[in-house]
Amino acid sequence: MSSRGTPLRRIWWSWDLRMRWAWGFCGDEKSFLANYRRAIDAAARYGVEGIVVWGFLRDAHGGADAARGLVDYGRSRGVSILPGVGIDAFGGIYCSGDSPHSLDRHLREHPERQARREDGRPSVHRWPPADDVDHLIGCPSDGALAGFYREGLEWLLETFDLSGFQIEQGDVGLCHCERCRARPRTAGPKCRGSSLEAVAARLVPLIRRALELRPGLTILVENYSGLLPEEVRAVAPFLAGFPPEVFHSWQAYDCPGKFHVTPESRSPAPHGCMAVRSNSDFTGGEIDDRADIRRAVELGRAAGLDMTYTYGEYPDDWPLTAGNYRAWAEAAAE
Ligand SMILES: [Zn+2]
Repeated sequence: MSSRGTPLRRIWWSWDLRMRWAWGFCGDEKSFLANYRRAIDAAARYGVEGIVVWGFLRDAHGGADAARGLVDYGRSRGVSILPGVGIDAFGGIYCSGDSPHSLDRHLREHPERQARREDGRPSVHRWPPADDVDHLIGCPSDGALAGFYREGLEWLLETFDLSGFQIEQGDVGLCHCERCRARPRTAGPKCRGSSLEAVAARLVPLIRRALELRPGLTILVENYSGLLPEEVRAVAPFLAGFPPEVFHSWQAYDCPGKFHVTPESRSPAPHGCMAVRSNSDFTGGEIDDRADIRRAVELGRAAGLDMTYTYGEYPDDWPLTAGNYRAWAEAAAE
């Protein structure tokens, strides 16, 4: 638990296809590396220790070789690259491409493992908006897929010299197959399209395996909840089985001005991350959000959280963005 005077660990969160640090988004290897190298170089100015990268592995921007180059570059600058690990969604371990660890490829080979929509058709999901491909969604009740994710995660940890990762069981809509409909499903307080039973069942064994292979990894877990006391009461039973060293990520501030945290909020787990969801495409570009960013970090600290992330997709030569980064970093450092 942290208290006033204890700095919060600082992380930037990103989708590769929303990065604006260098011209050209992350469409190819050159732009992918240019974007993230600039972000890594800037991270030190704000005490950022790691950058979450969703879309870490895509054939279009150089696949595993480019990703390895990025991890090594970050390490040389003291910044960890934390890949986004998608479970049942977001392309799986290998976001996009012809890899045995691509969820899209795996589900094309095993269509019976794909999630179903309410009308019975196979589920797909497209995100972020710049992605022009429908990604296939896995059925959270499919046991064979659990083995597929485990192999993929083991490969990821063997292939890259990682300090950690973020992991999510996708908030992309419930599966309506017979197996899933027969199971209890409690929606995340902020997301009707997720099942907290599936989050816990899918993620806990994978995280245990990862920590067995690489003790000391920094692992962020998305739980689709704010920190309002009633939200914490709903989520806490599902967090009880997670290893105590993980950082549960609380979506407790949404820009502009929407707080899901109060001075009475308390983290139910020893570690937690205040997700400051500001400075992103959700609000259509940069806005001056300094006052609410500071308040969000202070409330997170008061709730017992010891980490914070904010979006790190915009360059800090944008003046309002630079002010938001500074306000966030100063609040976290106090
Ligand atoms: Zn299902």
